[in-house]
Amino acid sequence: MRSNVKLGRVSGIEIGLHYSWFIIAALIVFSLGEHFHQVNSSWGAGKIWIIALLTAALFFISLLLHELAHSLVAQKRGLKVRAITLFALGGVSQIQEDATDAKTEFWVAIAGPMASLIIGFGCLGIALSLGWQRSTEPQTAVTGVLVWLGYINIALAAFNMIPGFPLDGGRVLRSIVWAITKNADRSTRIAASVGQVVAFLFILDGIWRFFSGAGFGGLWIAFIGWFLMDAAKASYTEVETTAALRGMRVSEVMSHDCVIVDRGMSLREFVDVYLLKTGQRCFGVEDDGHLVGLVTPRDVGAIPRERWDRTTVREAMRPLQELHVITPDTPVLDALKLVARYDVNQLPVVANGTLQGIVSRSHLVQLMQVRSQLRLPAAYYPPPGNEARNHA
Ligand SMILES: [Zn+2]
Repeated sequence: MRSNVKLGRVSGIEIGLHYSWFIIAALIVFSLGEHFHQVNSSWGAGKIWIIALLTAALFFISLLLHELAHSLVAQKRGLKVRAITLFALGGVSQIQEDATDAKTEFWVAIAGPMASLIIGFGCLGIALSLGWQRSTEPQTAVTGVLVWLGYINIALAAFNMIPGFPLDGGRVLRSIVWAITKNADRSTRIAASVGQVVAFLFILDGIWRFFSGAGFGGLWIAFIGWFLMDAAKASYTEVETTAALRGMRVSEVMSHDCVIVDRGMSLREFVDVYLLKTGQRCFGVEDDGHLVGLVTPRDVGAIPRERWDRTTVREAMRPLQELHVITPDTPVLDALKLVARYDVNQLPVVANGTLQGIVSRSHLVQLMQVRSQLRLPAAYYPPPGNEARNHA
């Protein structure tokens, strides 16, 4: 989830909005306007819309405080936090690393709902002190806003504490299972499975409500369930792949069939002699025994054919500085992250300035599939560092 509108930074954390947030903001302002209009029919239209806008803005701030609570606790416990993005279904804190112990996971997860709960009861408390009486409709604009914010924040805390991973409650559940079993992978599997059950119940409930006349509200619940289902499944898959590839090094999986071509060769010669005949996709370009770049069929395709005689391989290649270089010792999991983060198909493996091989995205995906299909216990794989067995 990337933010489209950047709002600034808090404690080094970038705060932003995703486009989908504006749709929800409009819906909230609109339904708040309706609500205030029904309850206080004596208020003029101008007053109602100003109050609705203000309430929506305060709601946005309380969502942000919920996420900031997660992020600041994470920072305090040594995790790097990149950004907070608000989108249609709430907020996400982009915490770059996973918690390394159950305690950290617990405190980071619980901080958000606790913040919402404090804001919620705080708002209700102020409203009470301003003369609002429980179980009555607030009479003034200020108490109207406070009471709405109070209930919505308490509801937000309650919703987030539903024990379905990746909701906060699911993370709390995960941290507790983790503390008991001492097994991080297993705790994620369990929390993600519970998350799928919870998501399924949401979908059923939403569909049931829809057919009993709740209309849009029912569909909305089903949609949240569908979103949760997707997220829970993704978390499950991530654990499976991480467990399957842990401890593997790039040297075990890289392909060695890379060909070094002369940098001064014309593209015409390169195509005729190498590309068309070998069927390979990886060609390193060296200068004085040192790798300076890679040239792929895609790079060649970017240059018009009539210029192939006059263009050298060096001019067409992608220089080393633009490539994401890894070494034979790089963990396979890190290579996978690079491929995903930069959306590249190949990573050159370089040691001592020379090209050792290449790791391709398709190869990593295949390896992941095979390994997770076998569903071997973690103990089956040799401990990290024991790489001799697979060397070509
Ligand atoms: Zn949260």
